[in-house]
Amino acid sequence: MRNALNVCVLQKDDSHLRLLIQGVDVAFVNSLRRIIIAEVPCMAIDEVMVIENSSVLHDEILAHRLGLIPLTTDLDNYKLPEECSCKSDLGCKLCRVSLILDVEAGDKMMIVYSGDLKSDDPNVIPVSNRIPIVKLAPRQKVKLEIYARLSRGKDHAKWQPVSMCAYKYLPRINIDEGKCDGCGKCINICPKRILIKANSVVSVQRVLDCTLCQDCVKACPKKPPAIQVKWNENSFVFSFESTGALPVERIAFEAFKILDKRLEGLLNSLAAAERAEEVEGVGS
Ligand SMILES: [Zn+2]
Repeated sequence: MRNALNVCVLQKDDSHLRLLIQGVDVAFVNSLRRIIIAEVPCMAIDEVMVIENSSVLHDEILAHRLGLIPLTTDLDNYKLPEECSCKSDLGCKLCRVSLILDVEAGDKMMIVYSGDLKSDDPNVIPVSNRIPIVKLAPRQKVKLEIYARLSRGKDHAKWQPVSMCAYKYLPRINIDEGKCDGCGKCINICPKRILIKANSVVSVQRVLDCTLCQDCVKACPKKPPAIQVKWNENSFVFSFESTGALPVERIAFEAFKILDKRLEGLLNSLAAAERAEEVEGVGS
């Protein structure tokens, strides 16, 4: 029987979260990964009205670059356009944020940065002020009216709240001390340097860094090898990196919430199908 779900935080900082998830199968962690990439909403620039653009970049390229700038997201105070009561293509203040970019170069060449964007909402601003947008030659100008909206990564990659989301099986490395003669070939070949030798005994350090490449097993001169790299089918090291749009714990929380809602929807439709079948059985 499978163990109960157990989640433990291995590493957490402003942009990274690494979890050890135990007691689940690969389908579960893969659903979580796909939800984080494609379903957790975040803000991105979606519409650009060009009032003036005398830079060398075409309007479309400028708009595309703006779309890829990660914006801090306020999920509590904004709605997805399709869920907003305004039902308008233009949106309202509940489902869109206005920004302005109005920069003119003086006598010298200059670079327009994401920090030059002026947002109506101080909670929705570029994650970094140092993202270059366009270079302006003397007296060139860009004046743009910009709208940002919430949406999901499945609509466009600019709405992905993460720049990386991946998992691997929890590695399990066994060294047969009876067979190992401490030749050290496995230590030198390991790309992650997770094996060490002390008093001619090879041991494992930082097992979570193992990428399961099996190079150590192939390098072992013993037949069969004295080292074995296996993995636990129900334990995963799950990690992702936020673009800065949302805090990492909020991304995880939203992903679990969406997964829960999806599963509830599935259960409801199964129950409805069962009821319909029963009614049909009674009727015939
Ligand atoms: Zn609206």
